[in-house]
Amino acid sequence: MSFEGKHVVITGGGSGLGAELARQFARKGARVTILGRRLEALEEVASQTGALPLSCDVTDRASLDQALDAATASNGAVTIAMANAGAAPSQPFERMTPEDFTQALGVNLLGVFNLWQACLPAMKSEGWGRLIAVASTAGLKGYPYVSGYCAAKHGVLGLTRSLAIELAKTGVTVNALCPGFIETPLLQNALDTIVAKTGMSPEQAAKSLRRGNPQDRFIQPIEVAEAALWLASSGAGSVNGAALPISGGEI
Ligand code: NAP
Repeated sequence: MSFEGKHVVITGGGSGLGAELARQFARKGARVTILGRRLEALEEVASQTGALPLSCDVTDRASLDQALDAATASNGAVTIAMANAGAAPSQPFERMTPEDFTQALGVNLLGVFNLWQACLPAMKSEGWGRLIAVASTAGLKGYPYVSGYCAAKHGVLGLTRSLAIELAKTGVTVNALCPGFIETPLLQNALDTIVAKTGMSPEQAAKSLRRGNPQDRFIQPIEVAEAALWLASSGAGSVNGAALPISGGEI
């Protein structure tokens, strides 16, 4: 599988899964652009991968458009758009403010809409493209204390399924990856919160999240990146509107 000549944009490319996606796409010959708010984190990943690091906030369309213009000027038309940026702050539903809820929808759902809509015209002109979202098992089932995140990830699947049909004759496919708990900084934040709120030890907290996966382990970023490479490949051209669980059988 080679991505020579393809330009992939990865939001949230400065850490966790996004950094692994950057490494794997670069290894397969793609031109890679990574986006996020913290330029320093992006530059660190860029130094390992040769990716182009550009700072932007995916919830701010003007900021994203500006970054995509610069990315296109350097790396050519974007034909693979990986909407990976996300955040999962936790709190009980009753304490969530409308601002908290809007924020969860912003990065996790509006961010996907913004990236995909901005990248679509170039893909349609090429007659080939891949819109891929990193959703979550939280897009397929509920989890307590992250209702805003779950609502957003369910929304990502609705967007994916609808757009897959709308674009079916354009050469552009639209799919979502639905990982369970992946070992990344986002998971570490969730574990830290459980320890702080419940008094559990870090080991107990990890065990409590791990056991949701029938394989009793956390997913590794490389496992999700391998699935993304496959969805982005030409061989997956008839996979469209899928929500692919990567969860050891949790769902
Ligand atoms: P992570 O390391 O915290 O990565 C999230 C990335 O999103 C960061 O690089 C962050 O960079 C970026 N980001 C956040 N808000 C942004 C914004 N407004 N604009 C631009 N970039 C923004 O966590 P991760 O686990 O790799 O998360 C990647 C994706 O996997 C997320 O969509 C997450 O929901 C999904 N996921 C994670 C798990 C898990 O257990 N870890 C499970 C299922 C799904 P900046 O802070 O620099 O902006």
